[in-house]
Amino acid sequence: MSVDKGRFRRGQRQQETFDFHTGEFAPARWKSDDEIERYVPTHCCYCGVQCGMYLKVAEGKVVGVEPREDFPLNHGMLCPKGATAYQTVNHPDRLTYPLMRRGGKQSPLERASWDEVLDTIVERLRAIQAQYGKDSVAIFSGSSMTNEKCYLMGKFARVALGTRHTDYNGRLCMSSATGANERSLGIDRAANPISDMLHADCIFVIGANVGECFPIVTSYLWQARDRGCKLIVADPRQTPIARTADLFLPLRSGTDSALLNGMLHVIIKEGLLDEDFIRERTVGWEETRALVEHYPPERVARVCGLRPEAIVEAARLYGRARAALIYTARGLEHQSKGVDNGVTAINLALSTGNFGRPGAGYGTLTGQGNGQGGREVGQKASQLPGCREIEDPEDRAYICSVWGIDEQDLPHAGYPATLMIPAMLRQEIRACLLICSNPMVSLPDQHTAERALRSLDLFVVLDFFLSETAELADIVLPGNVWAEDEGTTTSLEGRVIKYNKAVDPPGEARLDWQIVCDLARRLGKGQYFNFHSPREIFDELRLCTRGAKSDYWGITYEKIAEQNGVFWPCPSEDHPGTPRLYEERFGFPDGKARFHPIAYIPPAEEPDEEYPLVLTTGRVIYHYLSGNQTRRTPFLREMAPYPWVEMHERTAEQLGITDGEWVTVRTRRGEMTAPALVVRSIRPDTLFIPYHYGHTQAANQLTNPVLEPMLKIPEYKVCAAAAVRAAEPPEWAKEIDVAELVAAQKRRRELPIVNGTATPTLR
Ligand code: SF4
Repeated sequence: MSVDKGRFRRGQRQQETFDFHTGEFAPARWKSDDEIERYVPTHCCYCGVQCGMYLKVAEGKVVGVEPREDFPLNHGMLCPKGATAYQTVNHPDRLTYPLMRRGGKQSPLERASWDEVLDTIVERLRAIQAQYGKDSVAIFSGSSMTNEKCYLMGKFARVALGTRHTDYNGRLCMSSATGANERSLGIDRAANPISDMLHADCIFVIGANVGECFPIVTSYLWQARDRGCKLIVADPRQTPIARTADLFLPLRSGTDSALLNGMLHVIIKEGLLDEDFIRERTVGWEETRALVEHYPPERVARVCGLRPEAIVEAARLYGRARAALIYTARGLEHQSKGVDNGVTAINLALSTGNFGRPGAGYGTLTGQGNGQGGREVGQKASQLPGCREIEDPEDRAYICSVWGIDEQDLPHAGYPATLMIPAMLRQEIRACLLICSNPMVSLPDQHTAERALRSLDLFVVLDFFLSETAELADIVLPGNVWAEDEGTTTSLEGRVIKYNKAVDPPGEARLDWQIVCDLARRLGKGQYFNFHSPREIFDELRLCTRGAKSDYWGITYEKIAEQNGVFWPCPSEDHPGTPRLYEERFGFPDGKARFHPIAYIPPAEEPDEEYPLVLTTGRVIYHYLSGNQTRRTPFLREMAPYPWVEMHERTAEQLGITDGEWVTVRTRRGEMTAPALVVRSIRPDTLFIPYHYGHTQAANQLTNPVLEPMLKIPEYKVCAAAAVRAAEPPEWAKEIDVAELVAAQKRRRELPIVNGTATPTLR
């Protein structure tokens, strides 16, 4: 798909932009001298905002990008990741032919033909399954892929391989959000479109670094503030969005549910409940009311490391708002109590009647590009397409009827991704096909994860770069980037949008879905994978979701183009889609939402004498997840080339560490050394390390693999740690200019506060 070049007046969109550093106007960012042949309307491949963009194609290559003014979410804006995403397409690191180890695990990866690698995979999978059973093989999938591919991976596992073990990297990302949504609201989707922010009187952001992880959403928060909306931010770090908050709550990591219970306590005491809403639209209130009696602000303040008055003020700002929104992200969810934390946030929204109206609701901001769709379409361990349950007899029967298989041949629930690792170590799982995921950066306790992946009899990775994980594979299959195929994703709003193809994959690289269908054919299951295009896969997916919770039946490629995306549920082709949920009913059969009383339980590890600090991890604006793409993008790499250890100046002083000095951080899993970044914008009891880096730079060498009991997400955001001045720099330090690294980070933090009031630094 492409659009008429004449529609665009190149270079006229914005002739000049203001440079904050020089104080002068500079030439427009999007001006280019290339002769552009085609402008392909599509979306950014990175975060869940899925900003609209045009890929510029010249001489058969993607040569640039322009933001789309017509896409109703980003309105002509892109963040640094989006503006440089196109540079992955022609990147010299692209995998352009299959690779295989011919002489065992210790031999090098060598060039191979497609027939050789595909035949080898099929032969070895057959042998492993014949000897150890169907379930000895696992699929480890991803959520940065299109819905079509995510759907295909779940079907491939269950139909082509007949294994029950299929799961995806969203387990490490969105599963707490899923658990909270399903337990309390009955539907796993953000309740509101982002534009609802402009109708809110109060927005409460807890555990979400919006400015860096979802940069374009920041403009909505600022516009809301311009209209008089109050912004509350709770985070152990004074993130960019916290600097512009009306009220900043620098809470201790892992104490979110105590804070939320404390706010609900105040709301009850001050008569700010919506009694009618509670009575008519919810069940379970009395138990929750009784529980939060035990969370007076004084007690909560001690737990969270806050002032009691700040908790009261937050409750008043939120509780008195005519319409209020709560947004959470991984800060609140990446915990062993992540589901409970989400539930306490929803309790707060339900108690004040903040659902089903413009500006009133709750949402979790999805980190992965298709973090929403990837968790709906049936690649998860216990799920069938449409958010159907794999153990539900009706759901099983329906999906089997669509797929044309016997119900007895459909496997039951398998291991979530985090439990595949111990199963590999037990040699219960002996082979794994991994697609578009990089667990050698993203899994906690990296040393254990590496042992597990190395122990496999067969490890196949499908990717477009040789990631840290692909380096361990026996066979590497070169796939496509987003610009080389078409297909849908579902944004953090629940809006189904579409990527359009700009160019073909390079060299011998192939389209991911064609590789998977080819494997299915060679496994003797071709009749179930007789797809000729992503559209055909999407049409089957639509049928699978018909009548289900995430109903895509009424969504077509044409309708997505006409409406600039369609919000699910969309049960028929003449249905406009559903931007705002819960206007009349919640997602349970009786239509009512559920309160759940949630007692605060501390994180699995708390500081002690040996490990007196708290380590938390997260993202920076310049990188996307494991950094497999953004660390290869020159500008992004230049801005954040290596990890660092962020610490408060008081902590640094106590440890005798100054800016840029090497500091070693130790936890019960291991240690790593990185330069110190001394700031005032973090709690003095907390350290922060960005997690985008691999090998000896991976923050996940340190994180705690303890899991949330229901959804099995690891506790990335809080573990006990110790820090000391490093005896000597790490090996990788020889390559870098530390002073430049520290200066770059300081510059980023010192950008002027725009459109906001200064908030006090953490002293
Ligand atoms: Fe938009 Fe997210 Fe891409 Fe940035 S990374 S351009 S916010 S979709």
